[in-house]
Amino acid sequence: MGRRVLVTGGAGFIGSHTCLVLLEQGHEIVVLDNFDNSSPEALRRVQELAGSTQLTLVEGDVRDPKAVDQAFRTAGTVDGVIHFAGLKAVGESVANPLHYWDVNVNGSRVLAAAMDRHDCRTLVFSSTATVYGEPQTFPLREDMPMAPIHPYAQTKVAVEQILGALCRAGSWQVACLRYFNPVGAHPSGQIGEDPMGTPNNLFPFITQVAAGRRERLRIFGQDYATPDGTGIRDYLHVMDLAEAHGVALDRLFQRQNADPLTLNIGTGRGLSVLEVVHGFEQATGLTIPYELVERRAGDVPRLEACPQSAQTMLGWSARRTLEEMCRDGWAWQQANPTGYRNNS
Ligand code: NAD
Ligand code: UDP
Repeated sequence: MGRRVLVTGGAGFIGSHTCLVLLEQGHEIVVLDNFDNSSPEALRRVQELAGSTQLTLVEGDVRDPKAVDQAFRTAGTVDGVIHFAGLKAVGESVANPLHYWDVNVNGSRVLAAAMDRHDCRTLVFSSTATVYGEPQTFPLREDMPMAPIHPYAQTKVAVEQILGALCRAGSWQVACLRYFNPVGAHPSGQIGEDPMGTPNNLFPFITQVAAGRRERLRIFGQDYATPDGTGIRDYLHVMDLAEAHGVALDRLFQRQNADPLTLNIGTGRGLSVLEVVHGFEQATGLTIPYELVERRAGDVPRLEACPQSAQTMLGWSARRTLEEMCRDGWAWQQANPTGYRNNS
């Protein structure tokens, strides 16, 4: 059934793919985004891909109650909210923790207060696998302790706690989705990840090396206690992640329970950096030059989800392969060598 959904941060990497899925499901969307890390061009392409005009943009900051009210008024009635608007760079959060607490925590507080005012208490929140800190036991289950080791993860824990308290106070339906490592792009190559400047993340760095924009990949750390010494992460296709949001929202609309639905969103299969590099080479037929360098500060050896709860509670599991992640990410990079910038 078509609903009205407010999507904060809907122009971003995960948000744009999720907006596409929601439009294809028949929902109407209002996006609130300040384009701090994205471009309106992403939303134009989302509508083009969906063949739908059921998306309205309100340009504004989620920390600004007036902008959030404006988004609610534009929608008329909002059935549910998906809250992507936020910051995600670990190093930046260490350098500027106050900014992270302001955008991620204060932004979520302002949004929740507006939801309450507008009588909408159904929310899907973007959390992260980094809430587990530097765990020793795998795979990671949702009932394992949260032990964040940097301000970025601390802000996500704080928001999970605020949302837990709202649920206990009554009448909220919340899902906290703990994403592992979303990568790739929509298979059309029309929307994808568009990092500003030098990419922090492995996948966009690899695709830029493949495109000749960067000389070689630097692999951070070769002496981790992993089979090949490089770090292990649970990479999942961004379209699988986008679909998880559609399913989670539907689930919340049916649900009576008060507890937040806290779910890992990953494949359950960790891959080392070298496995990803070789997988990309196989999927594309290209060679990725690399060098092994020192560990990157703040990196943990391994993160790997137990995806069972998402399967049980949502009937969702990641179905796309590493080959698809590489092929689709590469198609996006090739079609958009400088991201959205020269095209908007
Ligand atoms: P992104 O930067 O591509 O998207 C975030 C969007 O929010 C952007 O469009 C940005 O312009 C917008 N935004 C930022 N601050 C805002 C503000 N104050 N007001 C309004 N809009 C604002 O990032 P993403 O990868 O799509 O991540 C989405 C969410 O998921 C973030 O909350 C992030 O912390 C979380 N997350 C991301 C990952 C990942 O690996 N990409 C992993 C775990 C969690
Ligand atoms: N990584 C790397 N070189 C890069 C970027 C990342 O070797 O240029 C490694 C990083 O050390 C980690 C993995 O790739 O082991 C995933 O890093 P990313 O920044 O993509 O995600 P994270 O899990 O750190 O959020």
